[in-house]
Amino acid sequence: MLLRFYNTLSRRLEDFEPLEPGRARLYTCGPTVYGYAHIGNLRTFLFEDVLRRSLKLAGLSVTQVMNLTDIDDKTIREAKAAGLELRAYTDRFIAAFFADLEALRVERAEHYPRATDYITEMVALVERLEAAGHAYRSEGSIYYRIATFPGYGKLSGVRPEANLVGARVDSEEYDKEDARDFVLWKGAREGEPSWETAIGPGRPGWHLECSAMSMALLGERFDIHTGGVDNIFPHHENEIAQSEGATGEPFARYWLHAEHLVVEGEKMAKSKGNFFTLRDLVAQGHDPLAVRYLLISVPYRQKLNFTMDGLHGAAQVIERIANTLRRLRHAPPAAGPGALAEAAVEAFRRDYREALADDLNTARALAALHTLLRQVNTALDGEGVSEPARAALGEALRDVAAVLDILPEDEVGGDAQEIERLVVERTTARAARDFALADAIRDRLAAMGIAIEDTPHGTVWHRTG
Ligand SMILES: [Zn+2]
Repeated sequence: MLLRFYNTLSRRLEDFEPLEPGRARLYTCGPTVYGYAHIGNLRTFLFEDVLRRSLKLAGLSVTQVMNLTDIDDKTIREAKAAGLELRAYTDRFIAAFFADLEALRVERAEHYPRATDYITEMVALVERLEAAGHAYRSEGSIYYRIATFPGYGKLSGVRPEANLVGARVDSEEYDKEDARDFVLWKGAREGEPSWETAIGPGRPGWHLECSAMSMALLGERFDIHTGGVDNIFPHHENEIAQSEGATGEPFARYWLHAEHLVVEGEKMAKSKGNFFTLRDLVAQGHDPLAVRYLLISVPYRQKLNFTMDGLHGAAQVIERIANTLRRLRHAPPAAGPGALAEAAVEAFRRDYREALADDLNTARALAALHTLLRQVNTALDGEGVSEPARAALGEALRDVAAVLDILPEDEVGGDAQEIERLVVERTTARAARDFALADAIRDRLAAMGIAIEDTPHGTVWHRTG
C-alpha cells in the first residue's frame, strides 16, 4: 500500500517515502487551549486521525506530535478575563480537548507537548537564529528578519514586498499576504507571564513554539507537517524560516493542509449563531459518531459544508450499517451459488485501501463500504453469505475500524447484551407458541427504544430513537 499525498510545498501529488524506512514522523499543529475546539478545528484533527491511521494501515510505525499552545495572545487575554492563572485556565481546556478526541474516537498521538514546558528549547532556537544572522532585537523583543531567508514564501507563495522589508509585526495572526519580520520572542510586559532567560525576560511567539517542539521531539528533519489551510501563511511559512534558518537543512518534507469548513454554506462565526463545538451538538442530542462520520466523509482537501441535514443523514447511515451488521451476525451459513462470495469482499478491501492511498480519499473509501454492505444485504435477502466470505468480511471490517472507525459499537457496548438476551427469550417463547410472553417482550423492547423485525434469517433489532 503506497500512499500518495498532495504536497502543498511542491503543489503536486507525491508518493510518500519516509526518511527512515518503515517509520513515519508526523507533526500536527494542535489547539490553542483558550476555549472549546469548534467543528472546523475538529475537522482538521479528524483528517489527521485518518492520516495517522492510514499510515499505520500501510504498515508504518507512526510517531505523531501534536502541540498544545498554552501561551499566546489569546490564552493570556482569556485567562485574565476569567481571573485565573494561565496554567489553571489552560488545564481546563486541555482536559476538554481530550474529552472531545475521545468522543470522536481520535487515536492518541505519541506526544502532546505543552508550549510552556519547552521554553528552554525555544530559547536555544532563538540563540541559533541570532548566531546565524536571522534575528535582531528591538525594544526588548526579538524579530526574524525575513530578508535573510531567500526561501521565504516557498510554501505559501507569499513574497515579501520590497517596501515591507524591515517592517515588523508583533501580532501572531497578521493579515494575509502581508509578509513582514515577525516576532520570535516577546519582551516581558506588565501583567503578562514571562520567563527570565539567556535571551532576556519575555515569552515565545506562537510560530517559534511549533518549530522548537517539532524539532525537539521528531528531529530537525521529519516527514509530514499538517494543519488547516489557514496555517499555511503566516504560521507554517514562518516555521520553515525558523527551522531551516537555524539548521540549514530542509525541515518537513510533506506539507498537508485541510480545507475550511462552512456551516449551511456560510463562514462559521459566533455572531451568526452558526458556530458549533462538539458539546453544542451533543447537547442537541447528536451522536459524536455521526459527527465523526460527517466530518471525514468529504476528502480533506475539499471544503466541507456542514449542515444539520447532513448530520441527520450521517446518523441514519450509521444506523443502517448497524442493522446490516446485526443481520449478518444472525444469518445462518450459506453455500448456494447465489451466496455472497469471498471475491466480492476482497474487491472491497482493495478498493478501500486504494482510496485511502489516493491522498486519503475518504469519500471513495466510504462509497466502497456502502457498495459492500448493499451486496451483503442483497445476499442476506437471497441465498446468504458464504463462510469464506464471512471470514473475509471480518477482516474487511477490521480495516474499516482501523482507519475510518465509523462502525457502531452498540453490539458490544451499553445495553446491547440485555437486548440480545430479550431477543433470544422472545424467540424461545415464539418457538414454544407462548405468544403472550413474546408480545410482552416485544413491548418491553419497544419501551427501551428497540424495534425488532423477524426476517427469514432470524430476528434482528435496531434502535428507533
Ligand atoms: Zn503550529
